[in-house]
Amino acid sequence: MNSRTRNTIRVVVAVVLFIPCALYIGWAVERSRRVHCEAVARHPDCVNNLRQIGLAFRVFAIDNGGRFPFNLSTKSGGTLELCQRGSDGFDSNAAIHFQLASNELSTPRLLVCPKDHSRKPAATFSLLTAVNVTYRLLTGTNITEGGPRQLLADCPIDGNKLYSDGSLMDSEGHAVAPFHSARLTWQTNRWLELPNVTPEERADLARKLTGKIKPAVEKWCKAYRNQVPFRPEALTLDSLKQRAEWDSSSYYYTFILDGTELAVRDSGGSVVVMFMYAPEAKQLTALPKEPAPDLHVPVAKGEVIQMVKSDSGLELKPQQVVIRPTGAATAVSGGAFVDIVPHGGDPNKDRRKIGLVFGANGNLIYYYRDPYL
Ligand SMILES: [Zn+2]
Repeated sequence: MNSRTRNTIRVVVAVVLFIPCALYIGWAVERSRRVHCEAVARHPDCVNNLRQIGLAFRVFAIDNGGRFPFNLSTKSGGTLELCQRGSDGFDSNAAIHFQLASNELSTPRLLVCPKDHSRKPAATFSLLTAVNVTYRLLTGTNITEGGPRQLLADCPIDGNKLYSDGSLMDSEGHAVAPFHSARLTWQTNRWLELPNVTPEERADLARKLTGKIKPAVEKWCKAYRNQVPFRPEALTLDSLKQRAEWDSSSYYYTFILDGTELAVRDSGGSVVVMFMYAPEAKQLTALPKEPAPDLHVPVAKGEVIQMVKSDSGLELKPQQVVIRPTGAATAVSGGAFVDIVPHGGDPNKDRRKIGLVFGANGNLIYYYRDPYL
């Protein structure tokens, strides 16, 4: 087999594997789903779509050493080899690049301009093709998140533009205010230091931490048999990296604990863990290892039912627990994707209540809880 044939096969295999990958990484979305949904509800317009796309590309870049999907080889989970410049200068494979950034986009609807009546949103990101995308994307090794500001995408209908640094320009050439998510305001560090809080605020935060947050996190760790990638005692004020206010009575706290991201919501005094992302979970967007992936799963349904009950109080029926091997579509071999779906249906269509990923040793490496659970 010559190297060209081999490369072609690699690309085909990568494309085929991206479909299940995209399905699976769909739920990584949930990290920022609520933020996106609320913003979309307020501004169902083209500029907002581009803003969300910009955010998705930036978060992808932050997670991948400053590289956009098309800067990264297919071997490393990117789409570099799939770049194809069309006669208009834009990439004719835009749908594939958007698909890869989709773990930070809440819905495929964002890829269709509201004024574009010739295109319909895809039902899921895994079904996305060119007919489901209005926006034109520029690709190339020279277009990077940290590099010089360049056009990244535009709307051929309105003329709105998105730049590589996340900034936006409307059709009249006016700059549009970026979306003020805390995640977009960082510059060089991934995490913001807590704003310069006063000593009184600091004392108040410390009280909340020991009085409410820490006990809730400890209970949660116990529900998952303490097989979590951080020590609950690492939860100190110094590990608190960000606090987001959702409304006057709800706060989201983000901690980095032994390298793991943990998000906790305090809603009117009721504290629950919403999200966890361990360093190992990064491999969930990488392709399976050769030769044959390990398709064993480290947890049984009965155990999951028990864990989720201790965590959330939900009484689950076996058909509401969907367990799939991670080795089939990612470089996490021997682990398990576990989805709690209320109607026992397809976890990619049915709204997930809780999403869990276990590593081969049974440790929890990813956690997501529906904000409306
Ligand atoms: Zn538009």
